[in-house]
Order: sequence, then C-alpha cells, then structure tokens
Amino acid sequence: MNQKDIILLIDDDEENRSTLHEILSDTYTIVDASTITEALTKLENHAVKISMILLNLMISNMYGFAFLAELQRIKAAMNIPVIVTTVDNNETKELEALQLGAHDIIVKPFRPAIIKRRIANTIKLLKTAAEINLIERDALTGLYSMNFFTKRVAEVIQSNVGKRYLVVFANISRFKLVNELFGRTEGDRLLTFIGKSILDTIGENELCGHAGADNFFILIDSDEYNEGSIKEIVNKLNSYSIPINIVMRFGVYMINDITMPIEKICDRAKLAMDTFEGNYDSFITYYDDSIREKLLREHMITNAMKRAVEEKQFVIYYQPKFDLNSECVIGAEALVRWKHPEFGFLSPGEFIPIFEKNGFISELDYYVWDCVCQKIASWVETGHSLMPISVNVSRVDLYNPKLPQLLFDLVNKYKIPIQYLHLEITESAYTDNAKQMIDIVNEIRKIGFVIEMDDFGTGYSSLNMLSDLPIEILKLDMSFLRNNVGRSSGRSVIQFVINLAKWLGLFVVAEGVETQEQAIFLRNMGCDYAQGYYYSKPVDDSDFEKLLLETHLCVMI
Ligand code: C2E
Ligand code: CA
Ligand code: CA
Repeated sequence: MNQKDIILLIDDDEENRSTLHEILSDTYTIVDASTITEALTKLENHAVKISMILLNLMISNMYGFAFLAELQRIKAAMNIPVIVTTVDNNETKELEALQLGAHDIIVKPFRPAIIKRRIANTIKLLKTAAEINLIERDALTGLYSMNFFTKRVAEVIQSNVGKRYLVVFANISRFKLVNELFGRTEGDRLLTFIGKSILDTIGENELCGHAGADNFFILIDSDEYNEGSIKEIVNKLNSYSIPINIVMRFGVYMINDITMPIEKICDRAKLAMDTFEGNYDSFITYYDDSIREKLLREHMITNAMKRAVEEKQFVIYYQPKFDLNSECVIGAEALVRWKHPEFGFLSPGEFIPIFEKNGFISELDYYVWDCVCQKIASWVETGHSLMPISVNVSRVDLYNPKLPQLLFDLVNKYKIPIQYLHLEITESAYTDNAKQMIDIVNEIRKIGFVIEMDDFGTGYSSLNMLSDLPIEILKLDMSFLRNNVGRSSGRSVIQFVINLAKWLGLFVVAEGVETQEQAIFLRNMGCDYAQGYYYSKPVDDSDFEKLLLETHLCVMI
C-alpha cells in the first residue's frame, strides 16, 4: 500500500487546523505545529519525511515571514515546498511571501477542491524535481548521467563560443569478461574506480558522463588536451589490482561545428574508438572522414559474410613451412582467402578483425578447419604423403568451453590422425586472460593436438610464461625478426629467444622469411624452420599439391 504524503500544518488557529484536517486527512497525513519553534523542531528531526508545508502566514501575528526566512537555513528542509494561507487579499504581503520562497498562496475562506488540487500539484512538482535530481548523477560512479552530460556539454559549448572542445569516448575492451569471471560486484568496483580516475584527471571545467556499462564520455577543452592526460587515466588503471589484463581504448572527436547535436558528437567519438585496429602501442583513435568509409566497408563485409560461407566464397590457401637445413617441406599453414564475386579478392587482414569483433570468426574458423580436415582425409585416402597442416585459432574461439570437444569431433569425423592438425594460437591471446586461456589450451593439448604459439614477439607475454604453456612450437613473428635483425643488441635478443625455446624443448619457426640472407641468418642462429615468400607464397590447394610433388617432404615430429 502506498503511504500517504505527510503535510506539516503550521497554524496557531485551532479552527483553521480542524477545517484543513477535514479537507485533507483523507489524502494526507497531517502533522500539526501550533508555534514556529515547534515547527522548526519537527523539521529538524523529520525533514526527509515531509512532502509539503502549509503555513499560516499570520501565525503569531506575522511570524510566518520569519519562518520562511529561517527555513532557507535548514539544509534538509530548504527544498520542501511551502503553501501559505492568509485571510486578506494583501498583494504586498503575498509578494513578500513568494520572494521568501513560498510556492503558492491560498486565501481564506478555504475552498476544499481548490486547496486539494493546489497541494497535489505542488507535491507532484517537488517529486519530479527530485527525480530529475536523482538521475543527474549516475548512482554507481557518481558521474553525470548521459542525459545530463549532453545537456551540460551543450551549455558549456554555447557559453564559450570562442573555445574548442573535444569529446573523448572511453571503453574497456572485453569488459564483459570481468563480469563473467569475477562477478558483477567486481565489475561495478572497476567502473567506479575508472569513474574516479577520470574525475581526478580532468580539469575543473571539463565534464565526464557515464553511458552505462563500460562506456564513458569526457568533454575536454582542446587547449588543455594532450595524450598525456589520457595516459594518466591508463596508468591509474594499470595500478588496479585484478588478475586480468585490462585494456582501455579511447575515441576522440574534435567539435568543429557547435550546432551539431551533442548525441551525434558522442557517436563520432564512439565510432572513432570502434574502428580501432589491434595495435597494442596505441590506444587512442581520432575521428576523421576516412572512418565513415571504413565503417561502410565493414558494414558491407558484415552483410555479405553469411552468404559467403553458403556459397563457398572462402577458399583455403596453403603456405608451406620449410626445414632451414634440409630445405624440405615439413608442414604448411592454412590461410583463408575471400573471393567475393563483386568486391574481388579480400585479404584476411581486412575481414578477420571485423569477424573477431562481430563473433562470426568462430563460424568461419570452424569452416576452415573442416575444409582442412577434409583435405587431409583426401590425402589419406589417395595415399598422398602426409604432413601436419596448421590452422589458425582465433582468441575468440578460446572463450568457447566446448572448443576441445569440437576439435576432437572434427578429426574423428574425417578419421584423420590427430597429429596432422596443428593449432596456431596467437601469443596475445594468452596475455589477455592468462588463466582461462591456459586452462583451455591445456585441455586441447591433453586430447593430443599440437599447439603452435603464433606471432611470438608481438603480444608482450613474459618469457617465463613460455614454460607454463602447453606448446610445442614457437612461431617468431616477422615484425619481431625485422625489428631486431638490424641491430647487434637485437640479434642477441633473437639468439636468446631461440636458445630459450630450444632449452624448453620447443621447435622454432620463423615467419615472413623473404630473402636468402634472412634464411642463412636464421639457420646460423639455430632456428629450425621457416615460412615466407622466399620459399613460397600461400597458394591454393592444387598449386600446393603440385609444389609438394616438386619438393622433398620430411616429417616434422
Ligand atoms: P598469420 O597467422 O601471422 O599468417 C601469416 C601471414 O603472413 C599471412 O598473411 C601470410 O600470407 C603472410 N606472409 C607469409 N610469408 C610472408 C612473407 O614472407 N612476407 C610477408 N610480408 N608476409 C608473409 P595473410 O594470409 O594475409 O593472413 C593474415 C592474418 O590473418 C594471419 O596472420 C592470421 O592471423 C589471420 N588469418 C588468416 N587465415 C585465418 C583463419 O583461417 N582463421 C583465423 N582466425 N585467422 C586467420
Ligand atoms: Ca598463423
Ligand atoms: Ca603469425
């Protein structure tokens, strides 16, 4: 049952009080005070419960005015609306009462219907104002709610026409994981921490709004802006203790047109962040017009992907891996290509990141694995020489707890020996969420699959982590090799990593070998295998089969 609103009735005239009780007590709970002192005491103790004050302005011969003035000094009570009652129609007194903060005036004789309506209107007004006040700030982080943020941004921009502002969108990649792994309370704690870090970093006249979940918007004065302040937020986050790598990304939009709706400005900052590409050094993306084009292309790719699988537009290319000493083929990597009837040949570098974002990668990967297993099965059947083919396993696939079973069922479906399907898992997948990744990869390894660590040298995994991972093969990323090969200290790094890998009993594959010098250099360093244009580009299955006929094949493991 709804509780009745409470009205504090301040009147020294008993007849007045009983008339008002008669009119109002059906709808309201009336608390009486026959003196100003009594009223103030009640207010001091129960202000929060009182919805409205009905005050006889002429109490004790005009003390009503003193009460109105006094009320403004009681913090808890200053927002309670006051309706004053008077006997005479004295404009000066009424005006004075209104100036002192009274909301409305009722002149005697009391007309019940009018009094009831006015009181109801006044209470409703107060409640709406309180609600608006409540949502001005987001309850979790204490930051502005988005409605209020956009309103404030508009005010700031309009009242500082000469100044330029930026809107920054901040977001945590894979925040959902925090909730899933550690629970909502931990997720909320993290959001509160981020809210506080942003507030501590931005200037007095800058604003921050929380748009739900892990979405934050910040208004920054462009004169004050530098990437350092964003780095400061990131640094604070780095000190936050949680056993998962939390990465924050930022999209920035510079406001050029102050008539542009704030919602659109915020959208553009968000779009800038959405087009972020997996470069681990940068975490800020700026909006520019190329982003719009990129998004259109992304949209087109997303619209075409389902049909592309049905129509077998995805084809598998194979890039052989060579033994650096004997120069024979020891295996190959399967790399997907998209031959679109209209857009032509699309590179995985373009569509894989989009599929990783929209989740379609799992479907495509499964399709690729299935095609590869089918191919291996056909070689088994025709008595073709066999070698392990490695397929790429996206980090997204690793979030599926059924992945080990899925892979196992696949090799069984085609009855192929498990050692012929290798799995390449990128190094950065392990740094994202080490524990969960290691657990699932361990499970896959236990079934009997050989795991290759892909792109080593790009993901900042610690070297001592290598010994904890169930991997057999380390693939050195081509950028890792290129960045190090030119300097003698860099060459020592390569040598060290190769030695360490050997010491741990791992085979080493160098990626992106393009010249004979590189091949000789790697062989001298003790690297086992190489893959790259120097030996062969990725080729389609029939060219790959031809290549195998012309090259020696030796079994890797
Ligand atoms: P990756 O797994 O590191 O694959 C190696 C990439 O290097 C391939 O690019 C390959 O064509 C290229 N490459 C090989 N040798 C050389 C060389 O000597 N020089 C240069 N400059 N490049 C060389 P590609 O085929 O464009 O694939 C790009 C990335 O897309 C792959 O990188 C992999 O991360 C991803 N990818 C490809 N196919 C699949 C797939 O079926 N599933 C998943 N999840 N990812 C895939
Ligand atoms: Ca790979
Ligand atoms: Ca690679």
